[in-house]
Amino acid sequence: MSADPVALAGELLRCPSVTPVEGGALAFIENVLRGAGFDVDRITFEEAGTAPVQNLFARIGSKPPHFVFAGHTDVVPPGDPAKWTHAPFAGDISDATLYGRGAVDMKGAVACALAASLDYLAAHGPKPKGSISFLITGDEEGIAVNGTVKLLKWAAQRGQTFDHCVLGEPSNSAAIGDTIKVGRRGSLNGTLVLTGKQGHVAYPQLADNPLRALPALMHALMSARLDSGTPYFDPSHLEFTSVDVANAVVNLIPGEARARFNIRFNDCHDQPSLRALVERFARDAAGENVRWHIEWQPSNADAFLTEPGTFTELVVGAISDVTGRKPRLSTTGGTSDARFIKDYCPVLEFGLVGQTMHQVDERTPLADLVALTSVYRTILERYFPD
Ligand SMILES: [Zn+2]
Repeated sequence: MSADPVALAGELLRCPSVTPVEGGALAFIENVLRGAGFDVDRITFEEAGTAPVQNLFARIGSKPPHFVFAGHTDVVPPGDPAKWTHAPFAGDISDATLYGRGAVDMKGAVACALAASLDYLAAHGPKPKGSISFLITGDEEGIAVNGTVKLLKWAAQRGQTFDHCVLGEPSNSAAIGDTIKVGRRGSLNGTLVLTGKQGHVAYPQLADNPLRALPALMHALMSARLDSGTPYFDPSHLEFTSVDVANAVVNLIPGEARARFNIRFNDCHDQPSLRALVERFARDAAGENVRWHIEWQPSNADAFLTEPGTFTELVVGAISDVTGRKPRLSTTGGTSDARFIKDYCPVLEFGLVGQTMHQVDERTPLADLVALTSVYRTILERYFPD
């Protein structure tokens, strides 16, 4: 198999691997990596109430340092294929641009990591100076319970220890080389519940309407200053997303009002301290007479930061040398599988440009695939010095 990222990406895009379907994508990667001398395991994880999902772990070399490329081959559904200029699973190239669901999120980057590794091994003999691994899941875009989180545990149980990881999520905002993700905010969901007393709307004195106190309490929580941010993180923020009283009639004062919210939080907090802080703001705003509580949902998304240091400098240096851009160190955006990987080794995220991810006509310039391969190739070269 040649180390051409465009050809590899095209093959991957032709696999219809909408979560949780494998679609041939992992089989293709297994084939490529076996051909290059990797040991490859394909593992299916499942648990009650979820669809089984396939995953792949591959390693070449047995010595440290151990470098890992992480990623996913599953994609979100394409929606109505008729809305696409090029069929979503055709891997068409037009105007030096590769089209298809997953082009940037993130089969393109997986193809670049494959191409860079093949090219590196071709230049440096059959084995690397340390070890190179691929940690690829088919469960990132879904509920992400049968993917990276279990694959990392599986690898650890088999004695795999990782030194550094690059995850190829689409980190750049406008041009390749503009942004690298050095951490992610955490995410926590809760429901504010106000309890009153149901009654006839014509006799409000006999009822206790929970909707009276709700707006002020919501306003207090949305404008609460949870922290003032850090050099790497924006201030944490609470945002309400839904208000529900489930009232189907016009003459009833509801007995309960519920308002759902989400908090995107930085590494000034862990979940227990954040919950306590929000409840303190609620207590202060509610006063004595309002009956309220917060129902918190379990979350596996803590905030984390990969501390700046030698590894970040190596990756930033490779990006600047290849693209001519000095990447911004960012922690913005949603969560990613980096939140699981960070418990095992330092992880940075650098991939393609995210502008068309999850959209109709998802696409990447071929030049970006070539540049990203060159960045990954340079990282490998410097990670395993002669
Ligand atoms: Zn992704």
